Amino acid sequence: MTTGANTLTGASRLNLADISGDFLAQSGQEMHRLIAELYPICRSITGDGVRETLAGIARHVSLPLDIQEVPTGTPAFDWTVPQEWNIRDAYIKNSRGERLVDFHAQNLHVVGYSAPVHLRLRLDELKEHLFTLPDYPDRIPYRTSYYKESWGFCLTHSQFVTLSDDEEYEVFIDSTLAPGHLTYGEWFLPGTNGNEEEILISCHVCHPSLCNDNLSGIALAAHLAEYLNRHPHYYTYRFVFIPGTIGSITWLSRNEDKVGRIKHGLVVTGVGDAGAITYKKSRRGDAEIDRAMQNVLKYSGAAHQIIDFYPFGYDERQYCSPGFNLPVGCFMRSRHGHYSEYHTSADNLDFVQPPFLADSLVKILEVLNVLENNVYYQSLNPKCEPQLGKRGLYRAMGGASNEKMAEMALLWVLNLADGTHSLLDMSNLSGLPFENIRQAATLLAQHDLLEMPASDAALISLQVD
Ligand code: ZN
Repeated sequence: MTTGANTLTGASRLNLADISGDFLAQSGQEMHRLIAELYPICRSITGDGVRETLAGIARHVSLPLDIQEVPTGTPAFDWTVPQEWNIRDAYIKNSRGERLVDFHAQNLHVVGYSAPVHLRLRLDELKEHLFTLPDYPDRIPYRTSYYKESWGFCLTHSQFVTLSDDEEYEVFIDSTLAPGHLTYGEWFLPGTNGNEEEILISCHVCHPSLCNDNLSGIALAAHLAEYLNRHPHYYTYRFVFIPGTIGSITWLSRNEDKVGRIKHGLVVTGVGDAGAITYKKSRRGDAEIDRAMQNVLKYSGAAHQIIDFYPFGYDERQYCSPGFNLPVGCFMRSRHGHYSEYHTSADNLDFVQPPFLADSLVKILEVLNVLENNVYYQSLNPKCEPQLGKRGLYRAMGGASNEKMAEMALLWVLNLADGTHSLLDMSNLSGLPFENIRQAATLLAQHDLLEMPASDAALISLQVD
């Protein structure tokens, strides 16, 4: 056994010491490369597009991805796993046999889950199956029809207005809707010292060629998993790559026995655009993940927005349904539905950029750093302040502002180390960044002025060889 002094400098909790500008620049490029590789795949809530995507993620990160296949018809609470959808080809041809709208040129052209069809139609009949964006005439919209069997095409409004009433069009969709499976993937990274409490990272894998909305979250989650796999970490991390809504509902219905281990969680989506970070709090509103995120964003100095939970959006809706009420927030940059590129062909490889992906990654790493190191200390000298000078803990008074801040951190930690304030509480109460507080606590513990309660120390002491 060792004292708290050694335990915090030991090696089982996340430590961001190796995060450098070079690391971030390289990570941003790698995430963008993965997005580019997955961009052409036609994903949906089921089908081979999801399988190809999971295979692409597994190729990119040297971690074995656990792939689950859940049969069509499997009940999941009030839902049922739907038929599997696959598509090979689709087009609209004019009477000269020219492909005017071609699935192979852009998979957004086909309404997701379109039933197979092969017809010759006049424009007035075809029109009810065509979707455009008159306000953005050069963008193709993204549309789906998962739970009502239908078919349709999406195209630019500028192309739509060139279609002629006199023409007969051939429409063809070579798709299948048949009993099959819903596919999802999972990475499970056990805590370095056997701690089974989990942090859940969830992202959706069900949108076709859309970059910010789905691929950016996938790429960030993949890189985060790779980073954590190479570094010691206190928590167990569970990454789930699931189709939106039906995927999280299915996952929750099959893992009810495990959700009690989830101590913190994030839905990660829309993390590659130039907008400021938006954090949507968990339904609880004051979960540790909510407070850690607010702390990191506040001290980052960057513009950001924190919004309360509402029951619309991504899979946080399911994780935060009242029967689970998990401490899961949603991390994004521009909020879904609040940027014009959202659910259009303009959410492309140019819309997501390496520096923004890297910035999102580092913010999430900083939040994990807070969660991983958010321990409780008890002062060993609680009656009046200890004499810091004789221990060499008062440096040049009135010196640089960071020295003053370091001294203030020592005083705050000493005052709040009563076993009921975590380091995050101390950071919030003192107005000092978490890292300053953590460093002050480490220093005080090294001088035997603080100790960790047995529950924290026992877990941490496992790490010391
Ligand atoms: Zn979406």
